[in-house]
Amino acid sequence: MKAPKTHNIYNPEAECMPREQLRELQSKRLAETVKREYENVPVYRERMDAKGIKPGDIKSVDDLKYLPFTNKTDLRDEFPFGLLAVPKREIVRIQGSSGTTGKPIVSGYTENDVEVWTEMVARALVAAGGTADDIIQVCYGYGLFTGGLGAHQGATRIGAMTVPMSSGNTQRQILMMKELGSTMLCCTPSYATYLGETIREMGLDPKKDIRLKSGVFGAEPWTEEMRQRLEQLLDIDACDIYGLTEIAGPGVAFECLEKRGMHVNEDHVIAEIIDPVTEEQLPYGCSGELVFTTITKEGMPMLRYRTHDICKLDATPCACGRTTVRMGRITGRTDDMLVIRGVNVFPSQIESVLVSVKGVAPFYQLVVDRVHSTDSIEVQVELDEKMFSDTVADFEKIRNEIGEKIKSVVGISAKVTLVGAKTLPRSEGKAKRVIDNRKL
Ligand code: ADP
Ligand code: ZN
Repeated sequence: MKAPKTHNIYNPEAECMPREQLRELQSKRLAETVKREYENVPVYRERMDAKGIKPGDIKSVDDLKYLPFTNKTDLRDEFPFGLLAVPKREIVRIQGSSGTTGKPIVSGYTENDVEVWTEMVARALVAAGGTADDIIQVCYGYGLFTGGLGAHQGATRIGAMTVPMSSGNTQRQILMMKELGSTMLCCTPSYATYLGETIREMGLDPKKDIRLKSGVFGAEPWTEEMRQRLEQLLDIDACDIYGLTEIAGPGVAFECLEKRGMHVNEDHVIAEIIDPVTEEQLPYGCSGELVFTTITKEGMPMLRYRTHDICKLDATPCACGRTTVRMGRITGRTDDMLVIRGVNVFPSQIESVLVSVKGVAPFYQLVVDRVHSTDSIEVQVELDEKMFSDTVADFEKIRNEIGEKIKSVVGISAKVTLVGAKTLPRSEGKAKRVIDNRKL
C-alpha cells in the first residue's frame, strides 16, 4: 500500500483562506481592477459606458454579472498593445498563445505580473510534492508559449534544480532524465506518454533507471483514464495543471495530490461558469463555459474572459486543506465541439472510450469529412505494440468493441481504423487530435 499523502502548501495564508475572507479580498481587488480598466483601456470604458455601468457600481463579486465579457477576438482586434492598462515601459515580458485556434495573440506582463504567475506555478509544483530537493525537468517549449518559461520560473522559485530541456529530442530528454535523476516532469500529458513509451523502448525500467516521482501535466485536455495509464507507465503521481496566456499561463489552476480537480488561484482570479448560449451565470456543479476575471493583473487585466473551455466548479472542501474552488477536467472547448450529423461530439468522449479498450494505445486522430452532405467520422487509433503479433480475429474484435462503445457513449457510428504502433504523428507540445476536412 502507498504511504498516506502529505500535502505541502506553498502559501497557506492565501491558499487556505476562509472562503468568506477570500470573497472579501476578491471583491476589493475586483473593484480596483474595474476602476483601472475603465480609466486606462478605451475598449473597456466604451463597453461599460454602453451598458451604463460606472466603476463605482462594481463593489463585490456579486456585481461581476453586470460586467461585459472579453473574447479572444478582442485580443486580436487590439493586437498587440490596445488592451494594456499600463504604459508600455512598465511591461517587462510578452508571451503569446500557441495558436491552437486561429491567429496568435499576445499578453503583456509587468514585473509584478511575472511575480504572481511565478508564485502560481510554485504553488502547483509544491501541491504535486515539489521541494527544493527535487530535480525538475521542463519539457514544455520555451519561447512565446507560456509552458516552458512558466514551469521554469515556478521550479526555480521553489528552489528545485531546474532542467530547462524545452521540447523535442526525446532520446536526449530520457538520457538527461536518467543521468541527472530527474524527480519531476513538466510537459503535456501526450508528450509524457510518448516519453514513457520511449523509455521502455530503450530498454529502461521506469522503476529502476528513472527516478521520477511526479509530473505536472497540462496545456491540453486529457482524461482520468489517461492519467491512470500515465501513472503506471512512468510509476509517478500525475497532476493536472491548467492555464492560458490571456490570464497568466500555466498555474491558473492546479491539482493537489488528492487529484480531485484543480484548485483555482482565487486570490488572483475569479472563476465563473456560464451558459455559453444565454451567457447567464451557472451555479457551482453545473457544466458550462469557464470565464475568468483577473484581479491582480496589471499589464493586461481581463474582465470576464471567455475561455471557451467547458468544465464544472466545485467548492466543497478538499482533504489537502486548501479552501479554493476546484475546476473539473476540461471536457471540451465550445469551439472544439464537432457536430456530426447533428450530434455534439467532443474529442474527449472518444478518448475516454479508446483508453478503456485493451490492445490500443492512447494515440488517436479523428478525421471528419462530408460526402454528399452527410458527415462522417473516422477514428484512427494505434494498436499497442504487443498486439502486432496477434491474429486477424483480434483486430476485428477490437474494432467492433470501439465502434460499439462510441455508439453507446457518444451516440454516433464512427468508422474505426486500427493503425500500426507509432504511425500517427507525435507531438512534443500540444497534440492535434482532429482533422476536420469539412472546413477546407
Ligand atoms: P491556445 O492553445 O488557445 O493557443 P494557450 O497556449 O494559452 O493558447 O492555451 C490555453 C488553452 O489550452 C486553454 O484555454 C485550454 O483549452 C487548454 N488547456 C490548458 N491547460 C489545460 C488542461 N490542464 N486541460 C485541458 N486543457 C488545457
Ligand atoms: Zn486539494
